[in-house]
Amino acid sequence: MNSEEKFDVIIVGGGPSGLGAAYMLAKYGFNILVIERGGRIGSKNIFGGRIYSYAFKKIIDDFEKDAPIERWVRKERLSLMNDTDALTLELSVGNEYNNSFTTYLSTFLRWLAKRVEDLGAFILTGVKVDKLLIEDRKVTGVLADGDRFKANVVIDAEGINPILIRDARFREDWKPHEVAVGVKEVIKLPKNIIEERLNLGDDEGVAQLFIGYPTKYLPGGGFLYTNKETINIGIVVRLDHAIKNRISIYDLAEDFRQHPYIKNIVKGGSVIEYAAHLVPEVPQYNLDKLYGDGLLVVGDAAGFVLNMGFTIRGVDLAFWSGILAAEAVKKAHDEGKYTKETLSVYKTLLEDSFIIKEMQLHSKIPSILGNASLYDNYVKGIIDVLKNIYAIDDNPKKISKLMIDILHKHDLTLIDLMKDLLTVFMNV
Ligand SMILES: Cc1cc2nc3c(=O)[nH]c(=O)nc-3n(C[C@H](O)[C@H](O)[C@H](O)COP(=O)(O)OP(=O)(O)OC[C@H]3O[C@@H](n4cnc5c(N)ncnc54)[C@H](O)[C@@H]3O)c2cc1C
Repeated sequence: MNSEEKFDVIIVGGGPSGLGAAYMLAKYGFNILVIERGGRIGSKNIFGGRIYSYAFKKIIDDFEKDAPIERWVRKERLSLMNDTDALTLELSVGNEYNNSFTTYLSTFLRWLAKRVEDLGAFILTGVKVDKLLIEDRKVTGVLADGDRFKANVVIDAEGINPILIRDARFREDWKPHEVAVGVKEVIKLPKNIIEERLNLGDDEGVAQLFIGYPTKYLPGGGFLYTNKETINIGIVVRLDHAIKNRISIYDLAEDFRQHPYIKNIVKGGSVIEYAAHLVPEVPQYNLDKLYGDGLLVVGDAAGFVLNMGFTIRGVDLAFWSGILAAEAVKKAHDEGKYTKETLSVYKTLLEDSFIIKEMQLHSKIPSILGNASLYDNYVKGIIDVLKNIYAIDDNPKKISKLMIDILHKHDLTLIDLMKDLLTVFMNV
């Protein structure tokens, strides 16, 4: 490839957001280049394990048939966990419920990249973009490995650590309370053992989140997702809490794996992958900073991740922001210029989309999830109440009194409980 060649669009990053933009732009027939620093597409990307399918189905006709899906999630579980016990709520759904699926992100992205290449786009791997080229305050391309690549528009899809746009003063660094750090392990086990231990039908998947013990009762949680022949387990903990409490994320992950509930599920398995990564915890997007002369910002770099407590959504939002960025480029192209003004249509597209509507609807969730007693007193108190109710002996007890006594032991009152429930109810 001749680095002097001018592209319509250069996309920095071959993650879900970059490939979403690339797919749509290639479909429109633009001449595009994706630059990915990983040696292979997918080699630098990590996630917990589940993707919501709706966004992909809207764009890719044969998605369900062709995508590398490991298991459709048919069981949703939420567990409160103390040092020794777990209390689990389960939603088990029928066979037609293809709402979300588990996959290996690397395999999934390689599949998507192949689709993008089949549409005629160039993907350059193993090359890191060092700098945005800026002339007269307009982004005109990128500098990568000493080569200058020119384009009408650069789409920044560089993920959670957007150094390029930070250096170009488009955004600031994340603050510790705005991000969490996650560790994930992939554990290999035979398919039938996974299905037996997790009570799954053939090719059914489970998505399970845990709160309490996995993060030593700090804001954050643990997760478990099943692939065909592997189980992903891991934890995510808010960075400010991890720093303040001098907690090692690796120790947390190890303790989580050793918890009796998890130990029984993964026993005999071998860890075949281990990775750590940051994840946005508090949505931090500024719609006016996501477009400029010759520039658009998508995905994690734009701050589009939703941690809703019972689930984390990043891949679907990243992919869709890429699609909207492609639409914005198309509209700017139709107007014959790629200025801040023409590309500002990206802001309108975002505002009209489910991305911003969802983020606004759930904007209070981060502060609710920041309530430390949710992870500590409540988890311990609720498990304790149920353990005592289920423990039958020769000591008669009135359940309501038992509940009040135990909640009191955990520094909780029924009024606290009502107040917190009301706060959650009013804000979700
Ligand atoms: C522990 C954890 C669990 C998660 N679980 C889930 C989940 O279960 N479901 C879900 O939907 N989301 C989950 N997420 C969030 C999800 O992974 C992200 O929101 C999503 O990957 C964002 O996509 P992206 O394309 O914006 O960024 P990324 O996936 O980070 O992709 C950015 C790409 O840009 C490349 N890049 C960066 N800088 C440069 C450069 N200078 N030059 C060239 N290339 C560059 C990187 O190598 C990378 O490939 C999780 C995240 C974490 C950390």
